Amino acid sequence: MTTHSLEQLRQFNKISLGFLPTPVMALPRFSKALDGPAIWIKRDDNTGLAMGGNKVRKLEFLLADAIANQADTIVTAGAAQSNHCRQTAAAAARLGLRCHLLLGGEAPPSKQGNLLLDDLLGAQIHWAGDNRKGEDVDTLMAELHSAGHNPYWVPYGGSNALGTLAFAAALVELNQQLGQKSAISDIVFASSSGATHAGLVLGNELLGCPYRITGINIDKSEHGDGSFRQYIMQLVNQAAELIEFDFECQASQLELDSAYVGDGYGVVAELEREAIRLMAQTEGILVDPVYTGRALGGLIDKVRNQQYADEAAVLFWHTGGAPALFAYQESLG
Ligand SMILES: *Cc1c(COP(=O)(O)O)cnc(C)c1O
Repeated sequence: MTTHSLEQLRQFNKISLGFLPTPVMALPRFSKALDGPAIWIKRDDNTGLAMGGNKVRKLEFLLADAIANQADTIVTAGAAQSNHCRQTAAAAARLGLRCHLLLGGEAPPSKQGNLLLDDLLGAQIHWAGDNRKGEDVDTLMAELHSAGHNPYWVPYGGSNALGTLAFAAALVELNQQLGQKSAISDIVFASSSGATHAGLVLGNELLGCPYRITGINIDKSEHGDGSFRQYIMQLVNQAAELIEFDFECQASQLELDSAYVGDGYGVVAELEREAIRLMAQTEGILVDPVYTGRALGGLIDKVRNQQYADEAAVLFWHTGGAPALFAYQESLG
């Protein structure tokens, strides 16, 4: 029964880290510039913790689990400019836990953007070369254990069943903000490690599917997007089980648009440059070069290609990331 699962979700073990609910705003000047449907924005760039972003929501569930497991150290992984790692470092600091980050690449000559913030937040950084998704975690966890710590592993992007529940709760939050008279028909966002997408799909099912949920794929894979779809599907199903929700997601039901990955993760092109400038100059809102700039570029392209009816109202879920702008000055100038 849906009400039972909604109640399970509401009562699920979590800690408070973010400024929630985040604001929802209309984007009149941005919408007008595109001359298409009304466009709205959900401001998860304003979740509060150390410059915000969507990972704060997931960390409310993940770090509650860490605390329940008596962890004293948080370990996670990401790219050098990972927003997820920065938010994890901030959350760990706030809770008085140590934080170790496995970052892809080599130590750069100077720290910029999220990497600078990781350092200011007191995280210990380990450079992992090509392994930006946590491939080296077992070695580090074993080292920390033998040094007498109790480390807790937060998966890449905070994407597991707990991170998924956080985004199901986020969709319930949005739905309450919009109220009965919601005109929003579509939700568009950047999809990369999977739990934002999976959570929005799960939340939508719990609410009786009032929205069309479209993820813009950020990360190019040599094998197409099939395995990513499977992964999102598994997250939905695992999270549904945690709240005793009788639903089985099919990978073919998921709307994942992989048309905008360009030359791959973190490679900024005209799509992102135009989206960043248009949003900044019509609304005074900053989107980022890796995720939200790409997803917004995808949305702009869809509007121009008339993929939305005039009466549609599209909500862009701003998932954060603006601190990375400072590390991309060469591709943005
Ligand atoms: C992590 C991240 C995303 C993607 O969310 P996933 O749950 O990993 O798919 C989107 N935007 C920004 C700014 C992010 O940091």
